[in-house]
Amino acid sequence: MKISVIGAGNVGSTTALFLAQKQLGDVVLVDVVEGLAQGKALDLMEAAPVLGYDCRITGTDSFEAIADSSMVIITAGLARKPGMTREDLLKKNAAIIKGIVDEIKRHAPKAFILMVTNPLDVMTYYALKTSGFERSRVFGQAGVLDGARFVSFIAEKTGVSVKEIQALVLGGHGDTMVPLPRLATVGGRPLKDAVDAATLDQLITRTRKAGAEIVSLLKTGSAYYSPAASAVAMAEAVIKDTKAVMPASVLLEGEYGLNDVCIGVPVKLGRQGVEEIVDMTLTEDEKKSLEASADIYKKALQELFPG
Ligand code: NAD
Repeated sequence: MKISVIGAGNVGSTTALFLAQKQLGDVVLVDVVEGLAQGKALDLMEAAPVLGYDCRITGTDSFEAIADSSMVIITAGLARKPGMTREDLLKKNAAIIKGIVDEIKRHAPKAFILMVTNPLDVMTYYALKTSGFERSRVFGQAGVLDGARFVSFIAEKTGVSVKEIQALVLGGHGDTMVPLPRLATVGGRPLKDAVDAATLDQLITRTRKAGAEIVSLLKTGSAYYSPAASAVAMAEAVIKDTKAVMPASVLLEGEYGLNDVCIGVPVKLGRQGVEEIVDMTLTEDEKKSLEASADIYKKALQELFPG
């Protein structure tokens, strides 16, 4: 099993580490910056005797090395720089994704594509369309992370182990995400019985702004441990064929009343990739929030695919 990680920055190199620790396969790390992926891969290999993983991690600036990968995790991209508009960033990252997808088509045409690069839902759609792959093979990581953040904040507030808390976040990876507190449980009881209404509102707001909270603390760069852990959880479900149900950004073709947009909904992940888009009854308000979230990404898509 070969898993390629494109982009050896913060998210990419941490993803490589977590993949190795779970021994999901050999890892190929690719970056356009000469020496960066090679250096990180060498460093990770030198940690292997201490951490006890037994797989090969190679670094390269050549896409030929991704040949016959089972999965390609895309973490390559630019962060917004001062003076750059969101549209500029969208177009620049889309150009990067197109170049990478062309390489995947050439060298690893049977691979699954797991998108991590932002804006996540738009880049997932773009990779799907430019690859021509079936929708079961192209999916994006967002909801696993957003849900994990919700759970960790609930755990902090209630003092209950994260292992005893369930919480789901659907929708796009941004301010319009759709946390579902109605379905959250703490040790089996509804979240609304475990915290008061004001606390619940705070938890939801903090979840929506969790990415920005980390950016403001770090000053440069954004979160990477939890995003990498979330991507690896999805990769593990596919590679080990676990049939885990988790949220992923996938192309909707009528499910949830939405069409021609990638957005976070619950899916079953296994050896065939997205094996099922799990149908879930939402309240009218939740449906409206999901639609509003999808509308934002449809507008962004119109910038990429005018007309
Ligand atoms: P980073 O700047 O540390 O790393 C990005 C890397 O991509 C750099 O090393 C750069 O050289 C490389 N790169 C650029 N173009 C490339 C190409 N064509 N081929 C190969 N490599 C290329 O950034 P990061 O913190 O690792 O974040 C990476 C991406 O992940 C960003 O788009 C970020 O917004 C996104 N992200 C997504 C989530 C999520 O939940 N989906 C969470 C965190 C970050």
